Amino acid sequence: MIGKMTRKSIAKKDSLIVWKRDRWCCRYCGRPVIFAPTMKMLEKKSPSRGYYHPHWKRENAPLLDELGASIDHIHAVSRGGTNSLDNYLTACWKCNVDKNDRPLENWGEIIDTLPTAWDGLSSLFVYLYHKDSADSTEKVWYRLLNDRKQE
Ligand SMILES: [Zn+2]
Repeated sequence: MIGKMTRKSIAKKDSLIVWKRDRWCCRYCGRPVIFAPTMKMLEKKSPSRGYYHPHWKRENAPLLDELGASIDHIHAVSRGGTNSLDNYLTACWKCNVDKNDRPLENWGEIIDTLPTAWDGLSSLFVYLYHKDSADSTEKVWYRLLNDRKQE
């Protein structure tokens, strides 16, 4: 499995560019995706409700197991694909795991019909954010989400 735990991680800045470009929807199945750091904040505020688990396991985080926002390589790196924005797309966690490193032609098509209004709960992250309780990763996400130059 080419999971987020096993491959070189994609820069947070690039992830946000891709998720916004794709209107926070999975380009394989079309479903809206969820920004996992928001779910982590909700878990902190209201623990043990299945909002977040670091490994996005079905038992502990069913929503992220289905709809957690991830970045997939259209052409897998193992097959010569590059680490570049035009080789990235938004994938829900379910599709990301299912596709693995199969070539696109053995998997499906890329969906171009995107909603006009969905933000993956990323604005809720900014709303919930408190600098005193934020960890270092959350501080980076907050800074990137507030960087208007990217839009
Ligand atoms: Zn999907």
